[in-house]
Amino acid sequence: MKKHRSVKFQHDSRETMEGAGVRLRRAFGSSEQGRLDPFLMLDDFRSNNPEDYLAGFPWHPHRGIETVTYMLEGRVEHEDSLGHKGKILGGDVQWMTSGSGIVHSEMPKKDKGPLSGFQLWVNLPKSEKMMDPRYQEVPESRIPAALLADGSRIRVVAGEIAGIRGPVRDIVAQPEFFDVNLPQGALFEHQVKDGHTAFVYVIEGQGLFGADKTPAANHRLLLFDDKGSVRVESPEGSVRFLLLSGRPIGEPIAWYGPIVMNTQEELETAFREYQEGTFIKRGNRRNVR
Ligand code: FE
Repeated sequence: MKKHRSVKFQHDSRETMEGAGVRLRRAFGSSEQGRLDPFLMLDDFRSNNPEDYLAGFPWHPHRGIETVTYMLEGRVEHEDSLGHKGKILGGDVQWMTSGSGIVHSEMPKKDKGPLSGFQLWVNLPKSEKMMDPRYQEVPESRIPAALLADGSRIRVVAGEIAGIRGPVRDIVAQPEFFDVNLPQGALFEHQVKDGHTAFVYVIEGQGLFGADKTPAANHRLLLFDDKGSVRVESPEGSVRFLLLSGRPIGEPIAWYGPIVMNTQEELETAFREYQEGTFIKRGNRRNVR
């Protein structure tokens, strides 16, 4: 039996423009479509320059996916078609299941320090694409951390590690979402369920990843193969990375912008409903735009 997962592919996140003109880095997205199933996209919007992000992500629809905003520093204000409104602050996570449809705005704001955060898109299977929208919003104080004997610190957003279970639960993809900090000289090993997709995105420092000890630093995305444990060591200095895993869906993907369905026809229906004002499903209507 294979012990440690090997790196299947890796690359640095690429600069791109999104929303109304937000300069960010995309770790993966539509060009990798399918390869990180059930994950569709990961954007890295860390910046010291408010001009990069203040344009924000004004009103736009989502259907068929989950969008996960994980903030390290700064503030994103959001508001949606269900009358839901709030702020996502440093250390918080918002796990938004769009299901059949949500129309929302996500606006990063200028604070004293830098803005630092990530948005992950997780696909929904055909059977759940039209589920009722819902949120799991967890403030910093409710995200526990596992502290290991070697000084490693792992914030647990979803899944379980070292006996610590994350607050985000009942997600179709059975995700694990860890924010892992290793001091110099640490060894991290985590068994991911065979067949589940696992990747890391490095956000600070440098480390050696996978069975083949692939060196990687800030901005690097590494996708592992699908059996064995994820192994990382940090002989030359500390490293911080996001580790995500989830159960692949294995269905066709029809993707345009913020809507991801299984067929072209379902996509066309979604955009037609958005034009006609019937996008938000009955029962979910409140304060509709
Ligand atoms: Fe959005």
